[in-house]
Amino acid sequence: MSPNQKSPTLHSIILIGFMGTGKTEVGRLLANRLSLDFVDLDDLIAERAGLSVPAIFDTSGEPRFRALETEAIRSLATRSPFVLATGGGAMLNPENADLLRLYGMVVLLRASPAVILQRVAQGERRPMLEDAPDPLARVKQLLNERKPAYSLADYSLDTSRISPEAAANSIEALHRQWLSEDVVDLPLQRDPYLIHIKDGIIRQAGQRLRSLGLRGRLLIVTDHNVVGGANHPEQGRRVASHYASLVTRSLEAAGFETLLHSVPPGERSKSRSQLWSLLDIMADFKMTRDSTVLALGGGVVGDLAGLAAALYMRGVNLVQVPTSLLAQVDSSVGGKVAVDHPRAKNLIGAFYQPRLVLIDPLCLRTLPRRELRCGLAEVVKYAAIADETLFSHLETNAEKLLRLDSALLRQIIKQCCQIKAQVVLEDERETLGRREVLNFGHTFAHAVEAALNYSGIKHGEAVSLGMIAASRLSAELGLVSDDVPPRLSALLSRLGLPIVLPQCPPQACLDSLAHDKKARAEATRFVLLDGALGKTTIVANPPAEAVTRAVGSICGS
Ligand code: NAD
Repeated sequence: MSPNQKSPTLHSIILIGFMGTGKTEVGRLLANRLSLDFVDLDDLIAERAGLSVPAIFDTSGEPRFRALETEAIRSLATRSPFVLATGGGAMLNPENADLLRLYGMVVLLRASPAVILQRVAQGERRPMLEDAPDPLARVKQLLNERKPAYSLADYSLDTSRISPEAAANSIEALHRQWLSEDVVDLPLQRDPYLIHIKDGIIRQAGQRLRSLGLRGRLLIVTDHNVVGGANHPEQGRRVASHYASLVTRSLEAAGFETLLHSVPPGERSKSRSQLWSLLDIMADFKMTRDSTVLALGGGVVGDLAGLAAALYMRGVNLVQVPTSLLAQVDSSVGGKVAVDHPRAKNLIGAFYQPRLVLIDPLCLRTLPRRELRCGLAEVVKYAAIADETLFSHLETNAEKLLRLDSALLRQIIKQCCQIKAQVVLEDERETLGRREVLNFGHTFAHAVEAALNYSGIKHGEAVSLGMIAASRLSAELGLVSDDVPPRLSALLSRLGLPIVLPQCPPQACLDSLAHDKKARAEATRFVLLDGALGKTTIVANPPAEAVTRAVGSICGS
């Protein structure tokens, strides 16, 4: 969409934050530079009400002011893109927060409480601070109350010690990043599709699906996990409410008839019963072959919803909108969909390609850190099997990656998707053995998981240990030099992943490897490094002593 069309859709800049953080001054500067309209939300409210903001507070109180605020925000829907300076509490109402995020990039301006007080002392009347016996304490209290709402911002900037011009420069750079997009092509002969990677892209879901020719009924499948953990101020909000309302609004604005279905979080939802419920829901919703299933969540949701899409009426449109790092770099791409069977994981499945993948790296802000680290294990895996330059890049930027630097994340996600896309292109249905390289570290990882009875360890953590064991085995067999395993361990360790697990009994791991081999009545195959990081080979039945030493290296014996 051109920014000149009458809609602010995603092109606007919304400045949020406490009073005294510079929203109005910075907003005016930005609007000037970008040739966009400047809107001050308080001015707009006053203009529509025919009363100044302090007068609205004096005559009708805060609830009336908040209602007028929501009406004013709704009225912006038909404007051309703008720069908006909001009042300090505008994001508190979930509807306001959704609408503002659909209008554009939301930037939180921050300042220390002392700077805020100093700045507001020089300005106009501030009803929220009047009558406060201790204004500094009141500022701190309000900042604390508003933390959850402010955490919804896409980016944030501390203006305590920078000039309005410098703040405008930074936001202008963020806006350029916000508008840019990476695309990875998966030109499969039968079902080609594109993977779009862009900050905020989930809010464009409606337009993106429409431009692909999709329309009609659409089932959004997500999970109702609680967002974040102790470190995240948004505790209590659910993945479903956090992202699904934005996606739903965007789809409905584009004319889709939507239904939202949320499953319990975790692997247990990849079950026959959840699959069957989903198929029942699709039938009750009267979905037809041109309907769409949109998977919004991690790999569990993607695998479950993907299989339902593959089965229902022999296949309806599938769109993957992955929200975990693992799903963004791995499970949403390549078309493997499955649920588990009591006898084995992923036993009931299909190859079923999505029509489109939309990856929004900003979703990773709410991902629990442990899940993020598990996704990073897969990122390291791609680098180790296919791209030594990417590996070096990860070594240089490990801490920046953990800080969720958005430009870096986008670039890394794109590189991983490119690697996965190439492998899938060469071996779509896993018949040629090429796709096997994606299992680097996984043979050992499964043994570790089995040795621990699948409890207390996440798959990504087991993959981290598995990759170290595989690299040690590679070195034992003379396939790579001895400096490769420590290099891999050092990177994984810096990313917060386990590199040794003293509580894992080595014999149980070896037993599990032997059991696996017997159960499959075939050789145990290991993906190993060959020559250097970035190159692999498959080794069947390596010498037992070398495997024992590799297992010993991660089990701490
Ligand atoms: P998951 O789907 O269980 O997600 C991990 C947790 O993170 C869940 O609790 C989820 O609710 C939460 N979450 C997801 N996005 C969030 C967000 N943005 N903010 C807050 N919380 C969020 O697990 P996963 O690691 O994403 O995927 C694992 C699954 O993927 C396994 O079932 C595995 O078999 C499958 N998988 C499939 C493929 C494939 O090619 N199809 C490849 C690898 C893995």
